[in-house]
Amino acid sequence: MYYHSTRNNNGHYTASEAILKGLADDGGLFVPGEIPNIANKLGELAKLSYAKLCHAVVCEFFGEFRGDREFEADVTRAYDKFDTLSTLELKEFDKVCYMELYHGPTCAFKDFALSVLPCEIRAAKRNLGAEGEYAILTATSGDTGKAALEAFRGQEGFKIAVVYPKHGVSKIQELQMNSTTESNTFVCGLEDNFDACQTLVKEMLGEKIDGVNLSSANSINIGRLIPQVAYYFYTYLRLVENGRIGMGQKINFSVPTGNFGDILAGYIAKKMGLPVNKLICASNMNKILTDFFKTGVYDKRRKFYITQSPSMDILISSNFERLLWFVTRDDEYVSSLMRDLKNDGLFMAKELLPFLKDFAADYATEQETAEEIGRVFKEHGYLIDTHTAVASAVARKMDLPEYTVILSTASPYKFCSSVLEALGETPSEDEFESLDRLAAISGMPAPYTLTSLRNITRVHDNCGGVKEVKAMIKDFLEKGDA
Ligand SMILES: *Cc1c(COP(=O)(O)O)cnc(C)c1O
Repeated sequence: MYYHSTRNNNGHYTASEAILKGLADDGGLFVPGEIPNIANKLGELAKLSYAKLCHAVVCEFFGEFRGDREFEADVTRAYDKFDTLSTLELKEFDKVCYMELYHGPTCAFKDFALSVLPCEIRAAKRNLGAEGEYAILTATSGDTGKAALEAFRGQEGFKIAVVYPKHGVSKIQELQMNSTTESNTFVCGLEDNFDACQTLVKEMLGEKIDGVNLSSANSINIGRLIPQVAYYFYTYLRLVENGRIGMGQKINFSVPTGNFGDILAGYIAKKMGLPVNKLICASNMNKILTDFFKTGVYDKRRKFYITQSPSMDILISSNFERLLWFVTRDDEYVSSLMRDLKNDGLFMAKELLPFLKDFAADYATEQETAEEIGRVFKEHGYLIDTHTAVASAVARKMDLPEYTVILSTASPYKFCSSVLEALGETPSEDEFESLDRLAAISGMPAPYTLTSLRNITRVHDNCGGVKEVKAMIKDFLEKGDA
């Protein structure tokens, strides 16, 4: 299977080339020429462990990795770092179930894809006989940063630089990133929001730096997106196994959405033949996607909110460009919409709405999000984080008749202050006191990865505007051996 840019259907890249490049030269995102249908393989997939299923899904798209034994072993090792045997846990209630995607090494769902990305890059390098070090540039709204650092720290042949919005991440998220000791890592705060971080990274990927191969760990990389498809299949097959649904029965997935990577993986799963009814695109107050799905107008000229679900505080959802391509397959049309967005701050695509029936979209206010945390805890004695709460609240508002799976994207202990407040408690100044309080109230122990940050030393303390940050990153990349 070949890949090309969303902005040029004539390109012809192998999977390895697309993964190593990250972003196409014309600024578009790589998309596969076709989506393989595996509906007739569900029975077979049901027998596989998570790592094996993920490997099978990845090989459907990146066929050239199929016979690579080292790649297969590498993927298995990557998921060995998760703290539960099943890799993800399901908490099933009557009409809904929470798909806990936060049992990876950094307690974020982003671990699922980022753990596999280094394996894919190594396989792509073997495949192309590519030499030299790869520098991974990453913009983060909080969780991608640490998950990427965890995946690449200390890995031979890689350097990793992370940029986060200085005032847009939680204290625990910042500590997680800034305490990464390995010398092949660099972490830096930008005095701006996440969209500006993402733009900075995209710009740097476009500027060549001598002697450095640049790639990205953001979901603009197709190698980051595809592994996420696996958990939709895995979860569906577990629900069948548990007798919760029948094979072939359609269910909904409610996805707390920011950059549109997670939900796009769900869309791909559906196109591959997974029985899905609606993909619910759940937003917080930054509801640009809700508005698009309702009106066909994508307008970023609006107030930007910093919310209690910071990983969803995004106005330019990169992966949305891929969806626009998948539903139209028209590179010129996609290019023109992206030009409009860049030049005028909006694009209009009302004509697409009839083709977007796989999705349902709505948003939750800050109050609705907090109330949802309280309600779920009261009803089920179960704690969810602020992002999951958005998806949960939106799914409840919609009240669709089918069984609904809510993607639970972060551990509640990553956002202790907001979660405590939602439970009617006053959070403490000290994030770790809040963490202890939350554990005491819920009776669910906090994950060691987070509690162990208590006495950790910060090794990175960088911050600046766009120019300074770019210069610091260049400096780090040009510095000889890490
Ligand atoms: C990144 C993230 C999201 C949003 O996922 P996208 O793929 O960017 O839409 C939601 N919740 C959490 C906790 C995240 O870290």
